[in-house]
Amino acid sequence: MADNAPESQETLSNLLQETRRFAPPAELAAAANITADAYEQAAADRLGFWEQAADRLTWSRKWDTTLEWNPPFAKWFVGGQLNVAYNCVDRHVEAGNGDKVAYYWEGEPEGDSRTITYADLQREVNRAANALQELGVRKGDRVAIYMPMIPELPISLLACARIGAIHSVVFGGFSASALQSRIEDADAKLVITADGGYRRGNPSALKPTVDEAVANTPNVEKVLVVRRTNQEIAVNDRDVFWEDVVAKQSDQHEAQPHDAEDPLYILYTSGTTGKPKGILHTTGGYLTQTAWTHHAVFDLKPETDIYWCTADIGWVTGHSYIVYGPLANGATSVIYEGTPDTPHRGRFWEIVQKYKVTILYTAPTAIRTFMKWGDDIPAKFDMSSLRVLGSVGEPINPEAYVWYREHIGASKTPVVDTWWQTETGAIMISPLPGISHAKPGAAMKPLPGIVADVVDDQGNSVPNGGGGFLVVKEPWPSMLRTIWGDDQRYIDTYWSRFENMYFPGDGAKKDEDGDLWLLGRVDDVMLVSGHNISTTEVESALVSHPKVAEAAVVGATDPVTGQAIVSFVILRGNAEESDDIGAELRNHVAKTLGPIAKPRQILVVPELPKTRSGKIMRRLLRDVAENRSIGDVTTLADSTVMNLISEKLPSAKSED
Ligand code: ATP
Ligand code: MG
Repeated sequence: MADNAPESQETLSNLLQETRRFAPPAELAAAANITADAYEQAAADRLGFWEQAADRLTWSRKWDTTLEWNPPFAKWFVGGQLNVAYNCVDRHVEAGNGDKVAYYWEGEPEGDSRTITYADLQREVNRAANALQELGVRKGDRVAIYMPMIPELPISLLACARIGAIHSVVFGGFSASALQSRIEDADAKLVITADGGYRRGNPSALKPTVDEAVANTPNVEKVLVVRRTNQEIAVNDRDVFWEDVVAKQSDQHEAQPHDAEDPLYILYTSGTTGKPKGILHTTGGYLTQTAWTHHAVFDLKPETDIYWCTADIGWVTGHSYIVYGPLANGATSVIYEGTPDTPHRGRFWEIVQKYKVTILYTAPTAIRTFMKWGDDIPAKFDMSSLRVLGSVGEPINPEAYVWYREHIGASKTPVVDTWWQTETGAIMISPLPGISHAKPGAAMKPLPGIVADVVDDQGNSVPNGGGGFLVVKEPWPSMLRTIWGDDQRYIDTYWSRFENMYFPGDGAKKDEDGDLWLLGRVDDVMLVSGHNISTTEVESALVSHPKVAEAAVVGATDPVTGQAIVSFVILRGNAEESDDIGAELRNHVAKTLGPIAKPRQILVVPELPKTRSGKIMRRLLRDVAENRSIGDVTTLADSTVMNLISEKLPSAKSED
C-alpha cells in the first residue's frame, strides 16, 4: 500500500459476486480417489491423516514422532528414513512397472521426442548419481542446476536426491548475476547446465551465462554440461561433459536412506516482490504432501492417466508436480521443452492430442494468452481425452476459468484452482474434482489436513462474506523449514505478522458459504475512499468484459480518494480499440462491483510487465501510474514491455 494512504477501518472488501457452480461429473465422482469423509477424518485426527499419507511412501525406517513443533520450526516424521529417488523410481521398477512410461518428453523442434520408462529412468538416475559421486559431490553438498526442459533436468534432481546432495535449480531464463547470487548464497560446488535449449524455434544458449556467473564463484569446482543444441561453446578448465562423465558410469547404484528432515532442495522464490529467498525443503514431509496432493487434487489414476504440467522445472510447480509428486505416484507425465506458440499457437493442444493427455495443469497467464489468441485455435484439436484441468500461479479470473473449462475442457471437465507457494511446497487450498461444486475463481477449501483461515489485522477470523489476510494455522508436512542460512528472515517474513500463524502475504475472502477466494498479494491492495479493494476483483471484472483478454490494476495516489484505481488492459484478438473503450470498461466495472471500484483511468496496452514465471508485476505499473521513474526491471521477462507501456502514457487522462 502507498505510504501516504489513509488508514482503513475495514478488512478487504468483498465486491465480486459469482453465481456459477459446476458439480463434479458423476463418473469422476463415483470413482474419485478422495471422498468427502477425508475432510472429517483429517479434522478429527490431523496427524493421523498425514501418517496415512506418509504410509503411501516406502520408508527404510519408520518414524518415531509424526510432528515436532517448536514454533515456527517444524520437524515431520522424526526418526524416519527414506530415499526420495528410490520412492520416485526404483520402487516402481521393483513392483513390476519398469516398462511403464515415466516421461513422454517432447522437444520444441517438432519430431524431437523421447520416451523414458521407469526402468530407463532408474538406469539414468543411477549413472548420474555415480557421476556426481565421482565428481566429489557428497551428502549435504549443494548443486546448482541451470538447464532447459530436457530429460537430464529431472534426472539431475533425482541423482542429487539419491545421494543426499541438495539441489538448487535456477530457472534457465535468469541472468548471469541472478545465477551467480544464487550459487553464492547456497555455496554450490557443482553446476549442472547445458549448451542451450530450444526456445521460439531457435537454440538459446545457457552455457555463456554459466561461464559469466562462475567466473566469480571460486567454490564451484566443476561445471557439468549436457549437449542439447550442439551450438558452439567455450570450454573451460572446470567443464566436464555429461556424455563423457555420466554415460560411462554403471547403471547400478545403491540408494542410501536419508533422514526425513535431511534437506532435499533449496529453491529461490521467483522474485515478484523483492530479494529472492532460498526456501529450504526436506525429504519425508515434502514427498508425503506432494505425492498425496497430486493423487487427490488431480484424481490421478497412474495406470491410465497421462498427466501434463506445463510449468518449468525451474519453478516450484515443476519440482513438486513434474518431478516429485507424479513420480512418487508412478504417473506417466509429459514434459515439453518449449513455448506454446512454436511453431504455431496450437502447439499445446497438438501435444494434448498426440499423447491423449488426461490431466492438464497450467497457469492463468497461459490461459489468458490462449483466450487472447482466440477460441478457434484449440477448436482444431481433439482434446476429448482431458478429464481434469488445473490452474496455479495467480488468482484465476472467473472468465478465464470458464473459458478454460469450455474451450479446453469441452464444458464438462472440472477445473481445480490450486493455491500454494514455493514456501508451502505443495498444494494447500483447492477444490477436489470428485467432490467440490466448484465456483469459477474460487480455490474453495483448504485440503484435508490443512488448517487455513482468513483473518483481520488483529488475527481474528473474519465471518463469512468478509475479507482479510490468508493465514495457515497449523504446520503442514511440506512446509518450508527455514530460509537457507537465515532463520531470522524466516521468522520475520512469515511468522511475525500474526502470532503462531503462517502469513503467506496473500489476501483472501470467505464467501457466504465459507469458501475461499484468493485476492492477490496484500502489498497490492488498493485503498480507495477508505475501502480496501483487491486488485484481483477489479481485474476479474475487467476480464469479464468481452473485449478484454487481460488486465492489471494498481492504486495510484489521488488527492480526492487517497488512491484511485488505474487499469491497464490488453484487448482480445478480435476486439477493436474504440474511442469510448475507456468509458465502456469503467462503467462495466462500476456495474459489476459497484461505483467504489470504478477505475479512474483505463490504459489499453499491448503487453503487461511479467516476471519470468509469467506473473503480473504491479509495482512497476504503480510507478507508471504515479508518473515516477520505473523501478528495478531486472526480474521482468521482457524489459522492453515497460517502454511499450510508457509510450501509451500521454494519451492516458482522467475521464470523468
Ligand atoms: P516472490 O515470493 O519472490 O515474490 P512469488 O510469490 O511469485 O515470488 P511463488 O512461490 O512461485 O513466487 O508464487 C506463490 C504466489 O503465487 C502466492 O503467494 C500467490 O500470491 C500466487 N498464487 C499461486 N497460486 C495461486 C492461486 N491458485 N490463486 C491465487 N494466487 C496464487
Ligand atoms: Mg511469494
